[in-house]
Amino acid sequence: ATHLVWLRNDLRLHDNTALYAACRDPNAQVLALFIATPGQWRQHAMSPRQADYIWHSLQALQQALAARGIALHYHQCEDFHASVAYLQTFCQQHHVSALFYNYQYELNERERDAAAEKALDRMKIEVQGFDDSVLLAPGSIRTGNGEMYKVFTPFSKAFLKRLRDHTPECFPAPGKRTPQALKHTPALHPFDYPREAFDPALFPVGEEAVLKQLRRFCHQPVADYSQQRDLPAREGTSRLSVCLAVGTLSPRQCLNRLLAEHPHALGGEGGAAVWLNELIWREFYRHLLVAWPALCRHQPFVDWTDGVAWESDKTPLEAWQQGKTGYPIVDAAMRQLNATGWMHNRLRMVTASFLVKDLLLDWRLGERYFMSHLIDGDLAANNGGWQWSASTGTDAAPWFRIFNPTTQGERFDQHGEFIRRWLPELHEVPDRDIHAPQAWAKKNGKTLDYPPPIVEHKEARKRTLAAFEAARKR
Ligand code: FAD
Repeated sequence: ATHLVWLRNDLRLHDNTALYAACRDPNAQVLALFIATPGQWRQHAMSPRQADYIWHSLQALQQALAARGIALHYHQCEDFHASVAYLQTFCQQHHVSALFYNYQYELNERERDAAAEKALDRMKIEVQGFDDSVLLAPGSIRTGNGEMYKVFTPFSKAFLKRLRDHTPECFPAPGKRTPQALKHTPALHPFDYPREAFDPALFPVGEEAVLKQLRRFCHQPVADYSQQRDLPAREGTSRLSVCLAVGTLSPRQCLNRLLAEHPHALGGEGGAAVWLNELIWREFYRHLLVAWPALCRHQPFVDWTDGVAWESDKTPLEAWQQGKTGYPIVDAAMRQLNATGWMHNRLRMVTASFLVKDLLLDWRLGERYFMSHLIDGDLAANNGGWQWSASTGTDAAPWFRIFNPTTQGERFDQHGEFIRRWLPELHEVPDRDIHAPQAWAKKNGKTLDYPPPIVEHKEARKRTLAAFEAARKR
C-alpha cells in the first residue's frame, strides 16, 4: 500500500493527525505532498512574510520527514482548482492507494477538498480526512437547540466542560519507516510568490524551536499573562500565532503543555486559564466559519451593518496604513505591523476600531490590509477580530462603544515606551505629552516631523454614531 499525506496548514511531524494515521500501517510506503498555489494565495491576500514562514517551515519539515524515511514532494500550480488536477496525476504516478489529510475550514478550501475527494473516489483511492487544527471539531459544541453558539461566554463554558470530560491527547511523531534515511530528497523550489524575511528570534521555525518557545511560555510567562497581555511594550504573550496559523504547532500541543505546567487551567483561574480562553476564542471563530460560511465571503454577521454609509474618500486609509494618523498609539502599532508582520492584540483592536469608527472606513479594507501584512494571517481569527471591532460580528463590541485612541494609549502604554520604539520622531516629547505630541509641540514652539491628528476624535465619534444609527433604522 502507498499512503499519501497531503500537507497544507499542518506543517509538522508531531501531533499531526493525518500523518499519524497514514503511518499506522507499518508496511505501507508513506509519501507526503505539498502543493503551492500562488494564484490562490494572491486571491486570499496572503502576506509575503507568511509565504516566507511557510517556505522555511517546509524546508525544515522535509528534512525531518526524510530522516524518518518519508519523502516530501513539492509542486506548484496556479490555484486550488489546478491543485486537485495535480493531486490526481500524482496519485496515479505514485500508485497511491489511500490519501490522508487534515481539514481546513474556509470555504474555498472546503470546496477544493470536496472536489479532491470526489475525484479520488472515482479513481478508487481511499480518502481519510481529519479534524486537526482545532481542539474540538466544528459543530461538536452546540446549544440546547443543537445550534452553534452566537455568544462566546456560553460557548467557552460548554467548551471547557467538554475538555474537562475528555482532554484531547497529542499523537506522537511517526517513527523511522526504514532503517536508512532517504537516498533522494525531492526538489523544493521557491514558490512564485513574493516573500519577505521575518525575524526568526520572534517567530520560531522548525519544530524544535517552536516547541521550545511553547515550553518556555507555559513554564513561566503564562502565569503573568493576565497582567502582561495588554501591555504592548512587554513580551507578555506567546507569539505562537503564526505557528498555529500555519500549523507548525497544534492547539492540542498548546493545551497539553499548558496542563502539564498548570494542571488547574481548566478550572478557570489565573493566567493559564486566561491564555486557554484565548485559544478558545480561536476555536470559536473557526466553529463560526463552518456554521456561517458567508463569513468567508466577508459578509457581516449582523445584516443591517452592511447599510452603514462608509466614507468613499480613501486618502485616510493610506495614512492609517503607513502609521501617519497623528495618533501615536495607532501609528506605532501600524509601524510594528509593517516592520515585523505582527501586531499586539490590544493594538489590533485599537487600530481596527480607529479605521472603522474614527475614519468611518469599511472594515473589509482593514481586514484585507491586515491579511496582506500579518505573518499570522488567518481568515477565521482575522475576520472574527475585524467583525468584533467593527461591531458587525456576533458577540462583537456594541456599535455605540467607541475606543478613544488617546485614552487607549494612556492606559496601555502609559509612559510611551512602545510608542517611542516605533516613532523615533517623538523622542524629545516628554512622557506626559507622548499621547498628544502636536499639542505639546505647539505649546513649546517646536516642530515635529509627525502629522497632526487626521481626524478629531470627538467629531469622528459623533459622525460614526450617526452613520450606524441611520443604518440600523433603515
Ligand atoms: P497569545 O496572546 O499568546 O494567544 C495565544 C493564541 O491564541 C494565539 O497565538 C492565537 O492563535 C490565539 N488567539 C489569541 N487571541 C485571539 C483572538 N482574539 N482571536 C482568535 N485567536 C486568538 N490572530 C491570528 O492568529 N491571525 C489573525 O489574522 C488575526 N487577526 C486579528 C485581527 C484583529 C482586528 C484582532 C482584534 C485580532 C486578530 N487576531 C488574529 C487575534 C490576536 O490578536 C492574535 O492571535 C494574537 O495577537 C497573536 O499573538 P500571540 O500568539 O502572542 O497571542
